[in-house]
Amino acid sequence: MKRWHRCKGTGIRKVRDRFVDKFPLADGRVLEFVFEDFPQKVCSPCGERYYEAKDLIAAEDAVTRELMARGIRDSAVFKYLRKALGLKATELADLLGVTAETISRWENGHNEADLAVWAALHFLVDDHRSGLTTTLDRLRRLVEARIPKRPVPLTLARAHGATLEALADVDSGHVIDHQAVQAWADSLGTRKPRPPPRR
Ligand SMILES: [Zn+2]
Repeated sequence: MKRWHRCKGTGIRKVRDRFVDKFPLADGRVLEFVFEDFPQKVCSPCGERYYEAKDLIAAEDAVTRELMARGIRDSAVFKYLRKALGLKATELADLLGVTAETISRWENGHNEADLAVWAALHFLVDDHRSGLTTTLDRLRRLVEARIPKRPVPLTLARAHGATLEALADVDSGHVIDHQAVQAWADSLGTRKPRPPPRR
């Protein structure tokens, strides 16, 4: 902003230009993420470039996605993802059932977080980016387990009930194609459930 003052911002132009975001890993390597078409303002007299906060936030999000897609497990990435979640070390420690010191050792590279911890962190970040709390809720439930004191009434989920029916049909010999029934039963928990096999 100082330079802007000096040349009074007379030659400010809006452009879309290259923008390189550098991500230093804890091991000394520096990853470079290149945006070829990044919105910015450039001051012709002094060459100073200005970026809007919303674009920098979007760039950060793109870097987060790429770091996760590449499965890069580096202590600097761990810290970056925790910050992307907006969680303090103590808050993440509570969710993962570890101490804040353990988080700190993972983030300064003294210890390596294991794959399960990374997976939980990725799930948390994915949810956060989509505005969901699925993994957060799941972890909280695990931390605060509630053992029932009385018998718990349950109902069968419909898909499961249908599976039981089909398997009963197989047992009683009503259905001949056992494999078709099994394939159908297996598909019920997936995104593309098959139609029930014919008798
Ligand atoms: Zn200037």
